[in-house]
Amino acid sequence: MSVHKKSREEIKLMRYAGNVVALVHQEMARIIEPGVSTKFLDDAAARIIKENKCIPTFLGYNGFPATICASVNSQVVHGIPSESCILKEGDIISIDVGATYHGLVGDGAWTYPVGNISDECKMLLETTEKSLMAGMSKMRDGALLDDVSGAVEDVAKEKNLGIVRQYGGHGVGHAMHEEPFVFNYRVGSSFVLKSGMTIAVEPMLNLGCDDVHTLEDNWTVVTNDDKPSAHFEHTILVTDDGPEPLTVLH
Ligand code: MG
Repeated sequence: MSVHKKSREEIKLMRYAGNVVALVHQEMARIIEPGVSTKFLDDAAARIIKENKCIPTFLGYNGFPATICASVNSQVVHGIPSESCILKEGDIISIDVGATYHGLVGDGAWTYPVGNISDECKMLLETTEKSLMAGMSKMRDGALLDDVSGAVEDVAKEKNLGIVRQYGGHGVGHAMHEEPFVFNYRVGSSFVLKSGMTIAVEPMLNLGCDDVHTLEDNWTVVTNDDKPSAHFEHTILVTDDGPEPLTVLH
């Protein structure tokens, strides 16, 4: 497997793109509330990406029709924003967004509460975020990628959450999806992380079973048991000293 290590210049561009992804998430956190449509969120994200001289990475990717993926409750990933999808009190919504700056990509996802949510949804969000941070904490030059996967898995298992198997993290840079694939559970991979690699880690955890399927729109992935799902993702630079998340405000 050939994995491209990024140059200082490429990392600079990815840091910029990552900052724009973080700006979008900052705005999502501000405007998500009962009564807004997921199309309204998409429009806001598109505006911020354009204002900051980036290209919306997802728009047109394999034909995807929007800037963000907006996945509500039992929708896991790849939900299509729509005027008719109106958020209501107690929902959770996962927003995944990519920004491309001079050909380099930042990719990040976060799940937000809509008003007050149930205690079990709170636990789902807290645990999924924690699993991302646990995976990220293992990333440094010379570390095994499988230990990142294992750290995510351990946090999920502690709370008995379902782990989505069909989707996972990935190398990211000149393309949104580069090698390697990052499982959210141990697979015994011997892949070794090196400084300069840029990798998106993105656990998707479910309140119920692991299993998911795709709806007839050929995009929206939902849990088989209709229970809620959460998704947290950072684009992360591997360094000698540890991880540097790029999809944060710089
Ligand atoms: Mg991703």
